[in-house]
Amino acid sequence: MEIIVTVLIAIVGLLAGMLVNYLADILPHHDRFIRPVCWHCGEMQPYLNYFVWPRRCSQCGKARRWRVWLVEVLAIVVAVWLWYNPHDRLAFFWAYALLAYFGFVIVMDMEHREVSLNIVGLLLGGVIGWLLHGWLDTLIGGLAGAGVMLLLYYFGIFVVKQLSKWREEETDEVALGLGDVYLAGVIGLLLGWPGIVAGLFLTVLLGGAISLLLVVGMALTKGVRAFTAIPYGPFLVIAAALLLFFRDWFLF
Ligand SMILES: [Zn+2]
Repeated sequence: MEIIVTVLIAIVGLLAGMLVNYLADILPHHDRFIRPVCWHCGEMQPYLNYFVWPRRCSQCGKARRWRVWLVEVLAIVVAVWLWYNPHDRLAFFWAYALLAYFGFVIVMDMEHREVSLNIVGLLLGGVIGWLLHGWLDTLIGGLAGAGVMLLLYYFGIFVVKQLSKWREEETDEVALGLGDVYLAGVIGLLLGWPGIVAGLFLTVLLGGAISLLLVVGMALTKGVRAFTAIPYGPFLVIAAALLLFFRDWFLF
């Protein structure tokens, strides 16, 4: 019996992984749901070709990106893991929907440097926050998350302007996007108040650690680039996932 349940959960995971891949392929180019398109040439794909082996484009012959496989394998592993290690207060459906959304945010941020401002994040954050913390702490958490990130957003604009003034060169780079502000609001809803304080703190720690590694890596290879923006979306999401699902690690 247990093996059947495991297989069913794995199938749920596979479907979720496919959905994340589909949305990450479609949404940067279209704002509505259409037939799947090739990431390389944009040609519409037959569903079977897109979702089942061998998945080469019928037009240009390009295989799908390795991200597709990684997302699907991770989605299955996480689904099975979550089923056997359930969150103590969140039903499987909500917990897994949230993790799938997190996966989508990470893929979008790493491939397109943007956080999709769709309503799904707000809805998930709002409902799960309300289930975990009640509406008031959820609302305060959301406002705190978005508020702090908005301040950082303006601070980032100021710093970049100053840097380009000193270097006497024009720049249109931004340190943070408004998508990060939106995402920090979603994470604030999820973690509630005062959980969002821990969330932002952990985000900065993770982001700082990875930035440091990147800077050291670049110094060892090609030299430090003048201005390298670190995408904060993945760190926000990873911090929130750690605080929600591995709370024991943080209670000393
Ligand atoms: Zn193609």
